Amino acid sequence: MVVGNEGGTKQSLHLHAALLDAVGQAVVATDLAGQIIYWNRAAEQMYGWTTSEAVGRLLFDLLPSPLSAEQTVAVMTAVTAGDSWTEDIMVPHRDGREFPALVTTSPVFDEHGELIATISVGTDITRRKRDEETARHLCAIFDSTGDAVIGKSPSGEIVSWNRAAEDLFGYPASEVIGHNISLLAPDDRQDEFRDILEQVVAGNTVRNLETVRRRSDGVEVDVSLTVSPTYDVDGTVMGASAIARDITERRAMETTLRHNALHDELTGLPNRALLTDRLSHALSAAKRSKTSVAVLFLDLDQFKTVNDAVGHDAGDRLLVEVARRITAVTRADDTVARFGGDGFVIVSTDTNESAAEHVAARLLDSLVDPVGLSGTPLYITASIGIAVSPPMEADALMSNAEEAMYEAKARGRGRARVFDAESAQDAPERLQLSNDLRQALEENALEVWYQPIIGLATGELIGVEALCRWNHPTLGMVPPISFVNVAEVTGLVSALDDWVLHRACLDARILIDRGVLGAEGYMGVNVSARNVVDLTLKATVRSAVKGAGIPYERLMLEVTETGAMSDPENAARLLDELHALGVAIGLDDFGTGYSSLSYLQQFPVNTIKIDRTFVQHITSNRDDLAITVSMIDLAKSAQIGTVAEGVETMDQLILLRQLGCRAGQGYLWSAAVPLNELIALVNDQPNRRFPTSDAPEQMSGRRAPALEVTVDNGLRMLLDMHHQGASLDTIAAALNQEGYKTPSVLRWHRSTVARVIADTVYPTLVQGRPTPTRT
Ligand code: C2E
Ligand code: CA
Ligand code: CA
Repeated sequence: MVVGNEGGTKQSLHLHAALLDAVGQAVVATDLAGQIIYWNRAAEQMYGWTTSEAVGRLLFDLLPSPLSAEQTVAVMTAVTAGDSWTEDIMVPHRDGREFPALVTTSPVFDEHGELIATISVGTDITRRKRDEETARHLCAIFDSTGDAVIGKSPSGEIVSWNRAAEDLFGYPASEVIGHNISLLAPDDRQDEFRDILEQVVAGNTVRNLETVRRRSDGVEVDVSLTVSPTYDVDGTVMGASAIARDITERRAMETTLRHNALHDELTGLPNRALLTDRLSHALSAAKRSKTSVAVLFLDLDQFKTVNDAVGHDAGDRLLVEVARRITAVTRADDTVARFGGDGFVIVSTDTNESAAEHVAARLLDSLVDPVGLSGTPLYITASIGIAVSPPMEADALMSNAEEAMYEAKARGRGRARVFDAESAQDAPERLQLSNDLRQALEENALEVWYQPIIGLATGELIGVEALCRWNHPTLGMVPPISFVNVAEVTGLVSALDDWVLHRACLDARILIDRGVLGAEGYMGVNVSARNVVDLTLKATVRSAVKGAGIPYERLMLEVTETGAMSDPENAARLLDELHALGVAIGLDDFGTGYSSLSYLQQFPVNTIKIDRTFVQHITSNRDDLAITVSMIDLAKSAQIGTVAEGVETMDQLILLRQLGCRAGQGYLWSAAVPLNELIALVNDQPNRRFPTSDAPEQMSGRRAPALEVTVDNGLRMLLDMHHQGASLDTIAAALNQEGYKTPSVLRWHRSTVARVIADTVYPTLVQGRPTPTRT
């Protein structure tokens, strides 16, 4: 079939073709006219045409235009020149698809050197092409991945190095390929390198090993390493590939997170979690060394007020400054932690109670200088509770300190107090009570009752005082004194006052509408000491008054001087603002504070409420009487109203009226009662006037015959017994036994006896009026 008669050629062609068959190469020969003269078995497979179909046909019929025009020219040129031509070309298969083939076309010459045929050897390179593509992909991935990928020989010689490796370690590939991987090892990690290599050579993969490597500039980087063996075709380890990921950032983030989890963001101080941890450690160390640990719980006074007044940014800066100051006055090995809000805790080791008290004094001292925030100097104080171990449990010690801190607050703030186990015994009950109170507030389970306030001159109702009542589900009636205290300590008191204020204003509306409260009648509402300096009070008052639709003038806020004095400047500002709205201010429990009189001038006071402890003994105790006289005179001269609290007897009433006291409230008329009862009570009074004297027209049905005689005889007996030194009770009992009546035709009590003694034995006291001290 081969052109020419040269058997050798033909034979050698056959031989070659058989060889090429064996390695899968297609051999096709054509004569000069392009007619196929040879087509081997591999060609049958590769092109899809059998030998019998192919031979004798034109090659280009079978395999149309696998070559471009230029390629055809190139083949012809090469072949006629006696060269062979090789190219990757796309070749058509009989079934229509094309595949890549490497084709070499060579000339065949006869013995005269005449070109007689061409022979093409084709290799299907589909697989190779695919591999190349895969390799290209792999290379692209290799270079584009953010992880450093390094190939190395079993001995650790670097054989490949991608771009990320260049970035991570700072060496270009050209500088490291051929070098040992150990150039990345910090000095103290050479052992680790050996271990990794051993593992890998043994066929194991080292995964996600977090370690340190050294960059070209000597800087160490945190990396996560995965090193796996690479195998050759027979499965023997031919090296290793290492993937290194830069985890510096992650490490830094972890460190930050760990720091944040244990520190307060604002002040940078240890937080509650770290504090608890440190305290526990300090306590176990103290147990071993038989020493003591002190916890100082420091809480800023009135921080909420300051914060609201200056804004939260300034409030934050204030806290930072406080943190700085208290850190500055504590020992380096003390822990100063922020306990949330405006609370700080200082843990001091190897200490005792008096040393802890010294620390507390230093802490309080450090806050004395005003904090200058945006020009305005802020004066702050703190209350500190101190607890010294034992107990050896962190929780117990902490709660003791906290308890003592509240105790310090209750005693007037700005001071330190050492935990006292005895006074704290009822703490759990208080906590329970506080929880119950919170619930009661939420469920509207509290009540407000009203006590009438009577004008002593006319008997008219000049106002009422709102007094909170709580009927506890299991404890029964809880006195306000105890739950108001609990509320003050646990911070519930704002909510409590807020609630009472709203309720009371709504009820005031009803009392006004029903004509129970006359034109000038007011609703008195107690404001807890804590809230007198709380700027939110103004908003609360506004909403309560507006909500009820009553004039501001109808509301009287009763504040205690102790409350106002805890922060006189703020209290004065707040009360002035409220006063400017028209709200009346009553100074409650007047006379019990140590500098009452001077404060009358600082605050916009409309009325003073003379404390019950004076009124109680006004008819028996000279001093109390004298003080009451001063208070009434002072108020009069300052044109301030007076209300005597706790008027229980007609004698007290009479004396108070004589002294010029304007109004009174007390069990003599009525205790606090529910709204409806109050309305009924007022309406029951003739002309809506309460009795204010023993005058017959006022004390209905209590006309007494032969009054003078009775009094005279009784008076003589009374004075005699008094001179003999008999007690007031004995005198009263004797007078009653003899059937003598009081000036109000009532039974004698120790107080009536006292009043008569005061009137007759010490008349100058009442009439002569000692000059009140004024400031
Ligand atoms: P306070 O403001 O001095 O209220 C007068 C207290 O004296 C009331 O006690 C009242 O019932 C009582 N009282 C009135 N007349 C007499 C009397 O003739 N004899 C005697 N022995 N007591 C009389 P209450 O209702 O137990 O309240 C005690 C304290 O609790 C109040 O003292 C006030 O400081 C506080 N409180 C009551 N309700 C509230 C409230 O809604 N908010 C606040 N913050 N405190 C309240
Ligand atoms: Ca009051
Ligand atoms: Ca009072």
